[in-house]
Amino acid sequence: MAAVVDKDKCTGCEACIDICPVEAISMKNGTAFISDDCTECEACVGECPSQAISV
Ligand code: SF4
Ligand code: SF4
Repeated sequence: MAAVVDKDKCTGCEACIDICPVEAISMKNGTAFISDDCTECEACVGECPSQAISV
């Protein structure tokens, strides 16, 4: 399992990318994409100003 980004809420601000300890977040077509490398640490969840990430 991996954290999930709500594409309707994501503004593409990229605030979540650097916070991920396993570099699981990248940008894809203007919104954040989380790969299967995600360990569900939840570090990115609180970082998102749009509450677009859920675990
Ligand atoms: S939950 Fe943790 S490992 Fe998964 S994408 Fe967010 S920061 Fe990275
Ligand atoms: S921090 Fe939130 S709004 Fe910004 S790119 Fe990441 S998921 Fe999208």
